[in-house]
Amino acid sequence: MIENAALLEDEDRIKPVNSVEDLLERISAYYPNADLDFIRRAYELSEKAHQGQIRRSGEAYIFHPLSVAGILTELKLDLATVATGLLHDTVEDTSVTLKDIETQFGKNVALLVDGVTKISQMSFKNTHAKQAENIRKMIVAMGKDIRVILVKLADRLHNMRTLNHMPYHKQAVIAEETLEIYAPLAHRLGISAWKIELEDLSLRYLKPDIYYSLAQKVARKKKEREKYIDDVKDILLKEMKAASLPCEIQGRPKHLYSIYKKMLERNIEFEQVHDILAFRIIVENVAQCYEALGLVHSMYKPIPGRFKDYIAMAKTNNYQSLHTTVIGPDAERIEIQIRTKDMHDVAERGIAAHWNYKVGGEAENTTIQKFNWLKDILNLQQSVGDSSEFLENVKTDLFDQELYVFTPQGHVHELPEGATPLDFAYSIHTDLGHKTYGAKVDGRIVPLKHKLKNGDTVEILTSPNQKPSKDWLKMCITSRAQSKIRSYIRSEERKRAIEIGKDLVEKALRANSLSPDKYLKGQNLEKILQTIKLQEIEEVFMQVGYGKLLTSAVTDIFVEKNQAEIQQKEQDTFIQKVFKSAANKKRSDSLVIVDGMHDLLVRYGKCCQPIPGDPIIGFISRGRGVTIHRASCSKVFATDMDRRVDVSWNTHSDSGGMTKIRIVCQDSPGLLQKLSEPFANSGVNIYNAKIRTNKDQKAICIFDVKVRNTNELMQVIQGLQKIKGVIKVDRVSGI
Ligand code: MN
Repeated sequence: MIENAALLEDEDRIKPVNSVEDLLERISAYYPNADLDFIRRAYELSEKAHQGQIRRSGEAYIFHPLSVAGILTELKLDLATVATGLLHDTVEDTSVTLKDIETQFGKNVALLVDGVTKISQMSFKNTHAKQAENIRKMIVAMGKDIRVILVKLADRLHNMRTLNHMPYHKQAVIAEETLEIYAPLAHRLGISAWKIELEDLSLRYLKPDIYYSLAQKVARKKKEREKYIDDVKDILLKEMKAASLPCEIQGRPKHLYSIYKKMLERNIEFEQVHDILAFRIIVENVAQCYEALGLVHSMYKPIPGRFKDYIAMAKTNNYQSLHTTVIGPDAERIEIQIRTKDMHDVAERGIAAHWNYKVGGEAENTTIQKFNWLKDILNLQQSVGDSSEFLENVKTDLFDQELYVFTPQGHVHELPEGATPLDFAYSIHTDLGHKTYGAKVDGRIVPLKHKLKNGDTVEILTSPNQKPSKDWLKMCITSRAQSKIRSYIRSEERKRAIEIGKDLVEKALRANSLSPDKYLKGQNLEKILQTIKLQEIEEVFMQVGYGKLLTSAVTDIFVEKNQAEIQQKEQDTFIQKVFKSAANKKRSDSLVIVDGMHDLLVRYGKCCQPIPGDPIIGFISRGRGVTIHRASCSKVFATDMDRRVDVSWNTHSDSGGMTKIRIVCQDSPGLLQKLSEPFANSGVNIYNAKIRTNKDQKAICIFDVKVRNTNELMQVIQGLQKIKGVIKVDRVSGI
């Protein structure tokens, strides 16, 4: 098996470094005036620090940091980065401190080592949420200095190269993580050499059967294939020379993971994958790229739909090339990439090819500006609160294939595969996104959720009255659109909650004969904020609007003054006995979770007054959030299915809900007093009571009570039923 794998080794791949001398030589080759002593000192410190440590392979530990540094020189990185490669494990695994590194190698190297150490300490194998949090941290670490992630990638690449020394169960975990996070990162940073190697190594440990059978199949006709490659190269070189186009030509089979992906995508066998050979023509300038393309197409028939001009439209990772697939000699399909030397450099080294060196070999960090997606992700991580939400978005951004669409003015926009007109609109401008009501693709009107195709010209239709809604989240896939819509909905809900809350508080004050003009101002206002412990009255309104706070929390502050009046009436006295001020109650989280989202604007159906424990269903009402009904409520059947959402009681909340209890009893003195006992015993608050007497000496009492859940309600009802003179007790739906 190992023999087969060896067959696949790329002859062009740079050999690993075996000694510090190798490393220094490698650096001098691309950076002639480098301060080699700096690197030698880093090596010596690392060697001394790791003295006595052995890797699983049996080698001295220093071989690992040395190899990582060697891998970093493949990208021709600056001295600080290479030194970080040498020192990257010292702080975590040895007695060397960051202070030591800063004293000996300066602040920059210390910061880089710190960044790599922090990423290394993150555990990626835990739960989904934890993993999300870690990737988020990793990207934040990367954002500060991209070199941190380059060292981390080199570290991972060397660990993957030596993964066979790991126990079997760890191999799969590490390989999966590599395929999920590190290979896409390498791709997005444009470092194709690393990406290809990470992908093939991951496949080897994740699906060894597939890997080795593919390796064998590709290797089987190796001699034949080599001859074919040489022949095509010769023909191309001759024709290019005749056309006075000096060039370099490379040819090789595509990497195994890309063949495997093609088989999966098209659901075909290896034998049906035709274009497994790829050629690369490297010329001097852009004009020659197109000339070469013309030449190739005149020699071999191009396959329609396979030509891609990544020169006119560079990929997000700044990759540029012309791609075409043609029918070559012996009717074999071959892919041909045509690019300049500079483009080739960018294709191989990615972000590192954009590095600007200052005197002294320090890289400037302006490079990050060239990578828009990186900026997007950094912005996103600041605006999205939830880690798994962040991970989902980052995954789309990191993994999905690019799609190029045009504005009616002919400007190109790049989007991930599966993107919709909404994604497109938000990629242009947030306000355009918010106002989108429709779209035209190549002149035809399409729905907002329409999946765009490569080359589509998209026109966004807007309306000043349009507003984003929660449904929109299902109609777009990019992190940008999703986060813009979410933040819009959140701010609208907040506004709406404040409005509703203000309205409710004012009504409640008036109901207690307190003028809002007087009681929501000056000293009274201060008193409210102090008692409820909030900074601003808007927050009080918002809490009320969201249903987290009762209006009585405000009114009670002032109503207590009038107690003397209230105490005149017997039933009011009784209410006071069991009434506890809601203001004294601890505020708690929202009571209902809608589709897993907390903090949505929720109202409870007046018709059925659900309380925790009741089976419930939610309905979206436009601009009014979600209304909760009991599943048995007659409204449920009268309402549109499309507006239904899954809701559940938040078991962590103990704020409970309002409901009505009706008691029919004999009208005898002292009975009311007795009725209060079951409520008091269960700690249930009565908020309102209506009592009327019938001609036949029966009293009907209706209590508005707040209970924690259905169990508590049952307790109270059973308690009431036991009282002598009580005829009937039931829970009342509606008014
Ligand atoms: Mn390491």
